[in-house]
Amino acid sequence: MLTAPAHAQHIQMPDAAEIQLGLEKLNVLGSVLYVAAHPDDENTAALAYFSKGRKLRTGYLSLTRGDGGQNLIGSERGAEIGIIRTQELLAARGVDSAEQYFSRAIDFGYSKTPEETLAFWGKEAVLADVVWVIRSFRPDVIVTRFPVERPSGHGHHTSSALLAREAFHAAGDPQRFPEQLDRVETWQAERLFWNGWRLSEAERAEAASVDVGEFDPLLGSSYSEIAAISRSMHKSQGFGAAGRRGTRYEYFKLVEGSLEDKDILSGIDTTWSRVPEGTTLGLKLAEIAERSSMACRLASIPGCGSICSAELAGEIGTVERFRGEASLALYLGMATLDNSSGKSRRSKPPRHVNTRAKAAMMIVVDHHRKLVPQSQRYYERKRAEGKKHNQAIRALGRHLCRVIFKMLSQNRPYRIDP
Ligand SMILES: [Zn+2]
Repeated sequence: MLTAPAHAQHIQMPDAAEIQLGLEKLNVLGSVLYVAAHPDDENTAALAYFSKGRKLRTGYLSLTRGDGGQNLIGSERGAEIGIIRTQELLAARGVDSAEQYFSRAIDFGYSKTPEETLAFWGKEAVLADVVWVIRSFRPDVIVTRFPVERPSGHGHHTSSALLAREAFHAAGDPQRFPEQLDRVETWQAERLFWNGWRLSEAERAEAASVDVGEFDPLLGSSYSEIAAISRSMHKSQGFGAAGRRGTRYEYFKLVEGSLEDKDILSGIDTTWSRVPEGTTLGLKLAEIAERSSMACRLASIPGCGSICSAELAGEIGTVERFRGEASLALYLGMATLDNSSGKSRRSKPPRHVNTRAKAAMMIVVDHHRKLVPQSQRYYERKRAEGKKHNQAIRALGRHLCRVIFKMLSQNRPYRIDP
């Protein structure tokens, strides 16, 4: 029950940018395990940054399922709210792409001290679960939400940090929980951090830090914005967070291990060369990600940024399924209608238009004409003929579809035909 990460029931179809990210993630072998006590304790911005920004395998171990929490949206209590919060947590992971783990610990309500908490939980049993998750997940670094030495408002919180610290060592020790070793091997993570808050200036200067406010051009959001969506899944807790952009630092204070510079993964090889004979595979994967690259080829069109090219590549899939440039143009919503209002009895609206692809094309073509003088002249000519902006854009788009069809069928980047 504890080995496999828990998965949300609803599998969402990834878009082209997420597929590209997935391909790039295949080539990063580093991993981070985040540990805290309850659903909603986790720092979703840090999880999104690790998982999507650094492309690390990222996990969240919530020791409990939040059975003792409040319920603002219904009457369920105890185990029932635990079930609801489990699902909320899985929905949050569906957004930030981290994996979700639990232990057997019950959220029995508020606890003043870690001593009380650990006595109630049965310390050795829950410690065994944490060790088990570490030995199965094999994280390079472990991060706790809460500190060991400072008060963090709840005995469960401090206990999660204490257990993580003890498990950091125990997981690598064959004498501890040897009954697990016929199914998993021992695992020694490199470092343990506390994802610190209210740190002094001096502590901040020492700590590893990351900017979770960084904007991801492929995904079109900052990690804090992704985190806001993920965090808003905790509906029973009444959480709703507004997305933020702009620099926002998170600090990681070293608890165990050593740190050469200010990066949590400094000195850790996250490439395939850490796997025997893995280097060749790494190179192949890099090639695939680069060539996923119908998107890359499309991105060579002036005005076709990474988001639109990924979107178009995802929607086009393969150029072979189009009979010719006209059917591609129809699909991309760029088939010219001579009576372009679309309401005229003589012009039937095209069927089989992919609306997502069409939306991307409208953006691409508009950017494109501003960058390529001959396209701009063509656009102006159409406007002079009395076409409305969108009609002139679609007329130019029809031309661009011809270019795209050639590029994709000849497997070459954009060039301006003489
Ligand atoms: Zn909590």
